[in-house]
Amino acid sequence: MPSFDRRQFLALTSSAAAGSLYVTGPSAQASPMPEVDLGERPQQDPKVVVLNPHGRVPVSFIIDDSTCLVNMGYFCLPQFKEAWPNRKNGAYDKPWKTWPREIPDSFVREFGEFCNEHGVKGKYSIVPYPACVGWLDRSLPGWSRRDLRASLDLVRKLMLPNWDIHPEMISHTRVIDIKSGRPLPQNADGSYWMENGGWCASRSRDEIANYIAYALQLIKNLDLPCEGFTTPGGFGNPAKQHLSKGGLQAIRSVLGAEVPHYFKYVVTNIAHSTQPQVEAARGISGDAAECIVNIPSCTGDYLGTWDGASPNPTAETVEAHVSADFQSGRLVDVIRKGEPACFLTHWPGMYANGTGIAFNTFKETVKRLNAGFKDRIRWMKLTEIARYWAAKELTEITLRDDIVHLGAPFATKGFTIEIPRTRPALTLRQSGTAHRLTRAESVRELRPGTWVPSGDAEAKRAIVCFDLEKGETTIAPT
Ligand SMILES: [Zn+2]
Repeated sequence: MPSFDRRQFLALTSSAAAGSLYVTGPSAQASPMPEVDLGERPQQDPKVVVLNPHGRVPVSFIIDDSTCLVNMGYFCLPQFKEAWPNRKNGAYDKPWKTWPREIPDSFVREFGEFCNEHGVKGKYSIVPYPACVGWLDRSLPGWSRRDLRASLDLVRKLMLPNWDIHPEMISHTRVIDIKSGRPLPQNADGSYWMENGGWCASRSRDEIANYIAYALQLIKNLDLPCEGFTTPGGFGNPAKQHLSKGGLQAIRSVLGAEVPHYFKYVVTNIAHSTQPQVEAARGISGDAAECIVNIPSCTGDYLGTWDGASPNPTAETVEAHVSADFQSGRLVDVIRKGEPACFLTHWPGMYANGTGIAFNTFKETVKRLNAGFKDRIRWMKLTEIARYWAAKELTEITLRDDIVHLGAPFATKGFTIEIPRTRPALTLRQSGTAHRLTRAESVRELRPGTWVPSGDAEAKRAIVCFDLEKGETTIAPT
């Protein structure tokens, strides 16, 4: 199946910018989600349907190419230019020398405070050896130790509660020899191995896993919690199966996360699902189940070029994602479809060399989303989405004598299911204790421990919300 990486997508959108800003790719194109081994699946009675968490559509904001202080636009451009001198569309022929080399912490603060105020959650990359400028767990030449420490502290205090931290491999530019810590030497033909290029093509799963593990270890050295990774552009394109299983292997061994996840794919065609893909599931009926969750974005970099050189115009961009009447736009379409709406930018693109244009666009998008869909969406981190989807896909669901039996390999908050309703009340039993569920006024009032009748009275169905525990749960009519 054709691969479709983010940089290709960006090339497509920016070359088409003069016409329609938001090209969604040829409609006949196959879904960009990879055909990899999904592993085991349990029995799930079709009369029980797992819905969205708390009955709301998950929304998440994905930020790539962020790190501490280093402006990846400024430092990556010349390295990409050297690696791919003939890249079309002038992608790397830009006046990078005139750009700021730093994205200041004052901007991180402004951004983080806005997000906290508006409930935004998502993923924030920390590239651990950004563009080979310096090692965040050692020193960052060009900035003092104190600057680096303060920058990491800001991420810990301001960003951590609502953002997952991912490495985006090691440098996001040159592939590093993980034995020596030095970039691989130039190839005989004059080319370079770049992380966002095709290095993975002839690598074994272990080699790819070890490379990812090295990046994860650098994040662990920074004392930042981490349960997943982001691929720099095309990293892993030629080895999607190895990326999935190697990623699982790396995250489990370095970080010990129970439900690992990763971000790589962009799905922009409304005909394709934006639901996360639960991959490589194993041991789901035992007590040491494993899987990795592949969470796609439903947009390319919607704020403009990744490097910050050309931010998209604010009014038009907001309208194309959430229209003023809340009736159209890419995010509206996905939310109405009831599928997760994760959307994407790159940190240099958000900073846009200090112009404030992209940040404004983002702020207006968030305000509109919250104004139009406040009680229909739920801002979530990728870890929360990953855990929910692992539970949704891998929980065994059977129906016997009107009693719903769940066998869950993973716990998750706000598990929401639609079930047949045969009596006026419902009792939930978990870990040997039983309690009667409270009837809520409407789906919008659903909280864990509550239920509402679903649809019209004739349908005799109920929507039930509760915190799912690992192991056995039953819901019985009473
Ligand atoms: Zn990136």
